[in-house]
Amino acid sequence: MFEFEKLRGNTYRICMPTNIGVYDTGNGEVLLIDTGLNDRSAQRILSALEKMNMRVRAVILTHAHTDHAGGGKCIAEQTGCDVYASEVERIFVENPDLEPAVVYGAFPCRDFRVKFMNTPKYRVRDLRELDAPEGMEFFPLPGHFAGMVGVKTPDDVYFVADSVNAQKTLETAKICYLFDVEAQFETLEWIKCLDGKLCVPSHAEPTLEIGKLADINREHLLMLNDYILKSLTTAMTVEELTVKMSRDFDLVETYAQYVLTLSEVRTHLTYLRHHSLVNFRFEDKRMLWEKA
Ligand SMILES: [Zn+2]
Repeated sequence: MFEFEKLRGNTYRICMPTNIGVYDTGNGEVLLIDTGLNDRSAQRILSALEKMNMRVRAVILTHAHTDHAGGGKCIAEQTGCDVYASEVERIFVENPDLEPAVVYGAFPCRDFRVKFMNTPKYRVRDLRELDAPEGMEFFPLPGHFAGMVGVKTPDDVYFVADSVNAQKTLETAKICYLFDVEAQFETLEWIKCLDGKLCVPSHAEPTLEIGKLADINREHLLMLNDYILKSLTTAMTVEELTVKMSRDFDLVETYAQYVLTLSEVRTHLTYLRHHSLVNFRFEDKRMLWEKA
């Protein structure tokens, strides 16, 4: 059973693989922040709320990734509530082919439409239309995904979505999905202004020291940049670099992991190219990347 934990005032979290935020607006109604992976997660959230005599007034999605948005359809259908997300993220939920297509770089094979790439299609409203309680604020957290947002509840609790990963996740997974490295560096820098506030990352324990976690995440990004730069003292294609990284980091041989690694390599190359740290050239039709 998942733990229902009071964080501060009217702000709670349901402890699941993705932390679910709950803000009690009074009269037994709550705003939910994220919905978990699938219908099963949604059912667990709804029964946890039922035990607390709470009803869902609306759902706020931090972003469209399946482990955040996958339960939204079930929750909306069972409660009749509206689901809200940022301008960009709602497009992804309403067009579920887009997220795997962005990660894969083309229309995705069925092999890729597994657990974490399988958000059901449902209607999502623009977050700007939400009649949010006084003191609730939304703030952009680009980097991990294009239009990701965080939520500050009126109790001064900050749900910071996937802007930071837990140290253990970085150490074990090594590759955590990232849309835009440049934006992620900026978000990690900005998030340090929340140091001392109660922050709830989606996949780490609530913390008053978000700055420390932001620094650990920044170091990890720098490590990946460095790794790629060192590797590119020998010119290689994106696929060759991906294979090298998969071997050096001992990554599992699955379709999803390979695509994720390929995507990570590409997005870091974009960052390094924009900072004039790598160049590309063609040799016998092969596109080769090398350290500048
Ligand atoms: Zn995510």
